[in-house]
Amino acid sequence: MTTIDRPRAVPDRGAALAPAVAAAERWLASLDARRVPAAGTPEDAIARLGATLPDSPGDPASVVDRLAAAVEPGLMASGSGRFYGWVMGGALPAALGADWLVSAWDQNAGMRDSTPGVVAAEEIAAGWLLDLLGLPPTAAVGFTTGATMANLTGLGAARHRVLASAGWDDAADGLSGAPRIRVLAGAARHGSVDLALRLLGLGTAELVAADDQGRLDAADLRRRLADGSGGPTIVCLQAGDVHSGAMDPFADAIEAAHAVGAWVHVDGAFGLWAAADPRFAGMMRGLERADSWATDAHKTLNVPYDCGVAIVADEPALRAAMGVRAAYLLTAGTADPYDHVPELSRRARGVPVWAALASLGRSGVVDLVDGLHRAARGIAEGVLRIPGAQVLNDVVFTQVCVAFESDERTRAVFAELLREGAIMPSASVWRGRAVIRFSVSSWRTDAVEVAATVAAVERAAAAAR
Ligand SMILES: *Cc1c(COP(=O)(O)O)cnc(C)c1O
Repeated sequence: MTTIDRPRAVPDRGAALAPAVAAAERWLASLDARRVPAAGTPEDAIARLGATLPDSPGDPASVVDRLAAAVEPGLMASGSGRFYGWVMGGALPAALGADWLVSAWDQNAGMRDSTPGVVAAEEIAAGWLLDLLGLPPTAAVGFTTGATMANLTGLGAARHRVLASAGWDDAADGLSGAPRIRVLAGAARHGSVDLALRLLGLGTAELVAADDQGRLDAADLRRRLADGSGGPTIVCLQAGDVHSGAMDPFADAIEAAHAVGAWVHVDGAFGLWAAADPRFAGMMRGLERADSWATDAHKTLNVPYDCGVAIVADEPALRAAMGVRAAYLLTAGTADPYDHVPELSRRARGVPVWAALASLGRSGVVDLVDGLHRAARGIAEGVLRIPGAQVLNDVVFTQVCVAFESDERTRAVFAELLREGAIMPSASVWRGRAVIRFSVSSWRTDAVEVAATVAAVERAAAAAR
């Protein structure tokens, strides 16, 4: 190994990291006490940052200091244990530390042989994920930006396979003139499935009936499939309805789909993690028999943004859909990471997944999932003691939909919660009613936070009278 003596002084490369560490530590230390919703508007933050491009270079450390000071008031405390908005996880300490290293290392994790260090951590993480979720150990895993791209990835593999089975080569001939692919999805599917289908040129899914918790009706699926011609077919199932947390009936639906040769894709952005907890085995029965699965690490697993996971049992189909062949790429004998995701260059976003799993261990993952569920039940039970409050869903996993006597009053309680800022759920409309939706997704949400949360709802309900 040789070193290079530089003739001139080089600025300290770490100079911008020390202020970043200090600002990050300040931020993390503030999470327990600070207001959960963000303060101000993007315009306020633009005014603090200053919109004028500097004419000349600035000192890196002061740039980072200025950024932290100007942006911090506009941050939402999504890492707080009292944050329940949308479905957003926090960041486990080991995953956050690993994520910083990923930035410092700055590896392009697309190619197996050229960045063996991070590829090793990603490959181990992939194997652990399959093991924890009870999915086929030989399935291919790709780390994407989120479940939206993981849905696109799984459905891209599906498109290739069902057309190939019908004697059509989509890679060579595209979709024009191809046999029509019939796509079925539950009425309560997530909008990102619609987006993935649209990007893949598959149009809008035919909707299968869902029950009052958003669960796909397997009998309706079976009837619809029996009515079809048996041509190329994709069935999209869901693990975790964003309002109720409910799981589709995997065993029945997958059996019906496979009976007609359909590919089954499961959107399990947060709900797939129920498969890691033996207590949910009944609800997840048959999940492992699907053909592809999408999930997020930045939700239930509490890895920092962003990280999704695409899992496909049929690796050749995935590689046919997402692989790239170019002479200038170093190509390993086996598949390269870029063969399994839509991106070519990408950060090693599977490394924080490795760190999260290494720090939790098998029992820690079960405890994390179980803890989120117990906190959701605790919130539901506490809220039910508040006069006029109702819980509209069966709390089978991590989601709780709360409503008051009228939509007007539900909205007023929600507005009061945001005004006070001690907790942050999100607002939605479910089954025709305004709801305050709690998605318990943070490793920090413990019994103390649950009690504080119920107390905040109680105060808001009283204040909104
Ligand atoms: C969050 C979510 C998605 C989209 O995931 P992103 O990580 O935001 O891309 C898809 N499906 C479900 C059920 C979700 O909850």
